[in-house]
Amino acid sequence: MPAKGGLFPKALVRQTKGVFIMIIILKNGASKGEVEKLIHSIESLGGITANTIIGEHSSIIGLVGDTSQLNEDDIAASDAVEAVKRVQEPYKMANRKFHPDDTVIPVGEASVGGGALAMIAGPCSVESEEQIVAVAKSVKESGASMLRGGAFKPRTSPYAFQGLHDEGIRLLLKAKKETGLPIVTEIMSIEHLELFADVDVIQVGARNMQNFELLKALGHCGKPILLKRGLSSTLEELLMSAEYIMAGGNGNVILCERGIRTFETATRNTLDLSAVPMLKRLSHLPVIIDPSHACGIAWMVEPMARGAVAVGADGLIVEVHNNPPKALCDGKQSITPAAFDELMKGLRPMAALMGRTL
Ligand code: PEP
Ligand code: MN
Repeated sequence: MPAKGGLFPKALVRQTKGVFIMIIILKNGASKGEVEKLIHSIESLGGITANTIIGEHSSIIGLVGDTSQLNEDDIAASDAVEAVKRVQEPYKMANRKFHPDDTVIPVGEASVGGGALAMIAGPCSVESEEQIVAVAKSVKESGASMLRGGAFKPRTSPYAFQGLHDEGIRLLLKAKKETGLPIVTEIMSIEHLELFADVDVIQVGARNMQNFELLKALGHCGKPILLKRGLSSTLEELLMSAEYIMAGGNGNVILCERGIRTFETATRNTLDLSAVPMLKRLSHLPVIIDPSHACGIAWMVEPMARGAVAVGADGLIVEVHNNPPKALCDGKQSITPAAFDELMKGLRPMAALMGRTL
């Protein structure tokens, strides 16, 4: 007689509450004592049930419950263990399986996720009041939904322009006051968090994607976080970093693909457009694309932005400078306000085709 609602004979069904599954394959000849010790150490964490299946040649322990608290490598270190396989993803709050609907993050009058295409535009770095206010006004005129601008800049060289720091944030707030555009700017250190009190979206740059203490602090800051993918990070690592922020109680995380390191040298990085549909399948969080840092070349921003919209991105973050040759940072990849206006015009029919408002 089949079990209620199931495919299996009742005798084979042992119902255990829990959403995650992990399988431990035991070594041939693992001793009973070692196996019992292992099971005890796992079950004593709470919320996990271990079911042992003894075969003639190999045996397994099936774990059901909150296995997100387990580390495969720690389990594999046991003398009794041959291999460990996680059947489900190690992240839960960011996982679409447990949150099927898309997350929509409101930012002032704009929102990221859902039906809108969020357009974040502005210079790499805030350089002066004239510069940031002029760029803010022009990108607003073209239809941008948020203003970007770095005040704390992560530069490869300690001798390069490092940003205007607190003065940069003050100038961004000035530009916000003049245009009404919400502001997005990067944090590099927990110590600076207080300076971000009036910032609308806090950006975590590629280099800090795995700064776990920073991520934990941002889990409590109550502001949307724009989390950029690390230069050589996998999508799972990106989602685990989002999980750090979400585990602290902040569910407003925007994921951003900004190009990854490959062997290719023709572009600054390689834009991984496949990250968009994959992340959106794995997670309910909105995903945006940064074509500027991905390619590092101004003329490539437009075709890659179109590609991003075509694969379902929820938005774009684009570097726009009023005088790219004179920019203090990333001038080569910055487009002019006029080019941004053209970009917006070109994206509108594409966005409409994808069912998005722009
Ligand atoms: C930036 O957006 O200015 C920036 C430094 O980006 P990334 O962290 O992606 O390099
Ligand atoms: Mn930049």
